[in-house]
Amino acid sequence: MSKKPKVAFFDFTGCEGCQLCAVDLTPEQLFDLLALVDIVEFREVMTDKAESYDIAFIEGSISRKPDEEKIKDIRARSKLLVTLGACSTIAGVNALRNFYPDDKLLHLVYPGHPEIDRTTIARGVSEVVKVDAMIPGCPIDTHEFLRVVKDLLLGKKPEIPTYPVCVECKMNENTCVYEKGIHCLGPVIRAGCNAICPSNGGYCFGCRGAIPKANIESMKEILQKYNLSAADALDKFKLFLERDKEIFPDDKN
Ligand code: SF4
Ligand code: SF4
Ligand code: SF4
Repeated sequence: MSKKPKVAFFDFTGCEGCQLCAVDLTPEQLFDLLALVDIVEFREVMTDKAESYDIAFIEGSISRKPDEEKIKDIRARSKLLVTLGACSTIAGVNALRNFYPDDKLLHLVYPGHPEIDRTTIARGVSEVVKVDAMIPGCPIDTHEFLRVVKDLLLGKKPEIPTYPVCVECKMNENTCVYEKGIHCLGPVIRAGCNAICPSNGGYCFGCRGAIPKANIESMKEILQKYNLSAADALDKFKLFLERDKEIFPDDKN
């Protein structure tokens, strides 16, 4: 019988894109992973189930009434529990529903079906159970995923950058999009994606979540300097950061 650590994947509310990333590894990455662990449960790719896990990866936010009991049960059966992607780490795009009162939301999404009342506010997993490590991003970066797996197997705390996207953007020698009058959340968002969006003609919209102690005052100064609206900037923050208490300190739920 295999002595390799047992790994499982579970999904809550999300698009399953992060699980797909974990499936869609390159052959080299897949051999690398399977040499280290046994995947014992993963609804997207297999029917087997297991009773306990060394590492449980959780995709998706907690946003339905039965989710809370399910995640507590998984937590109780897992040595380590790791969030997989923005939805499970910071509630992700699902948190947009938190801006609507339940009755309005049900009317908008399921008109004529008042019996559907199973949703709650969308929360990141750490708001319900203890989380040992996180993999941010929408979707996850597969190199970061494998690095986190290896660190955990070595008993190390995985290193996820705590500096902002701007650092990577400057190292890529990009012209800052603020010079073109475009908002970018890079100054307050967690690096680790190699500033992929501003490096490819876009801007950072915050999918990796805010860095600890994000310098909001400095962000406001940048907006003022470029004569941009703080209201528009806050709208962009809302796409991924509604549950982030650094950015939105007043819990209105
Ligand atoms: S973080 Fe993004 S890619 Fe991953 S499950 Fe959520 S919406 Fe999908
Ligand atoms: S484009 Fe965005 S990430 Fe790059 S330096 Fe400017 S604010 Fe920072
Ligand atoms: S640049 Fe920003 S939005 Fe783009 S992947 Fe990185 S953190 Fe996400």
